[in-house]
Amino acid sequence: MSMRVNMHYADLKDSYLFSSIAHKVSAYQQTHPDADIIRLGIGDVTLPLVPAVVEEMGRAVGEMGRKESFHGYGPEQGYDFLRQAIQGYYGSRQIRLDMDEIFVGDGAKSDLGNILDLFDQENRVLVPDPVYPVYVDTNVMAGRSVAFMNATEDNGFLPLPEPGLKADLIYLCSPNNPTGAVYTREGLKAWVDFALNQGALILFDAAYEAFISDPLLPRSIYEIEGARGCAIEFSSFSKTAGFTGVRCGYTVVPHELVFDGISLNKMWLRRQTTKFNGVSYVVQRAAAAVFTQRGQQEIASSLAYYRENAKTIAQALEKMGIDYTGGKNSPYIWMKCPNGMTSWDFFDHLLSQAHVVGTPGAGFGANGEGFFRLTAFGDQAKTRQAVARLQALLSER
Ligand code: PLP
Repeated sequence: MSMRVNMHYADLKDSYLFSSIAHKVSAYQQTHPDADIIRLGIGDVTLPLVPAVVEEMGRAVGEMGRKESFHGYGPEQGYDFLRQAIQGYYGSRQIRLDMDEIFVGDGAKSDLGNILDLFDQENRVLVPDPVYPVYVDTNVMAGRSVAFMNATEDNGFLPLPEPGLKADLIYLCSPNNPTGAVYTREGLKAWVDFALNQGALILFDAAYEAFISDPLLPRSIYEIEGARGCAIEFSSFSKTAGFTGVRCGYTVVPHELVFDGISLNKMWLRRQTTKFNGVSYVVQRAAAAVFTQRGQQEIASSLAYYRENAKTIAQALEKMGIDYTGGKNSPYIWMKCPNGMTSWDFFDHLLSQAHVVGTPGAGFGANGEGFFRLTAFGDQAKTRQAVARLQALLSER
């Protein structure tokens, strides 16, 4: 018998979303070379790293070039200086974490995929629809089937546990990609209570927490009583501080998480020390600079820049009477396609008539059909221009 492959890969749905978008945009550009296309579809940031980060990164590069300050392999779970800074960041919001509950990694995506090493095949996985596709695909690769919970207009795209629901692993993403919806404390408490009751584990993706400006909305699941006993939190410097190309994130695994008599914190430490060799010293120094007073001030101005874009888009939709969620405590705006159009019909319409690119909601799950995602991560002047074009196009209705 020859080598066998992981046949579960055959169960993955091809992800045509971003390649289809790129293909359609480049085809349009070829036939309309003068069209000035504005992209409000990307989930990537556009502002550069802030000066405090760049300076610290440069200083760390210098250290690496001198024998007396060179760093080789570091601790797999992250240097103490960064874990302490993350601990302080949570502490400033009255969340107490032990240092060894914080694991530094190369971004939330890797950790969200890798965490599945810890769980048995038979677990029942519950994922919102629509949602960031990584949760579904990583489980399918591991041979697990996934059940969906509906995120729709009726529940404000924030599903809650329903009577009779059974689940072992529950993914929550707040602020949500793609809907921009943000759970209230009451909403998260309902999930925490459910998980504690059922002996389930919540995998909480807080990659966009920095966009929450409403002090009443929770930025971490650990703001909810009992969450230390039922939740792992994933976070990232990607959107908070423009680290999408630098790569750094962190995962919190509280000591209270004990299942089958085994500590998930110990398991994750074992997993990371076996399969991961840590984030580079230079990147961790850069990440630590984000938490300095100067770093916090500088990233606040980048976040304000993106928030202004979100406001520009949201206000225009409001004026036009188009339903949407997000845009307030989130970089994503999730709008209802006008005139009952499908997501892809609206994509084509917007591209050909306004030269604006967004992301069709159908690419994030069945419930995304009929919706469209716009992002606040673009250039401010271009975002205003795109919104003006959108208004001109839709006022022709
Ligand atoms: N989680 C969500 C919800 C995201 O939208 C993204 C990136 O778009 C990530 C995680 C990945 O973050 P990172 O760059 O830290 O891997």
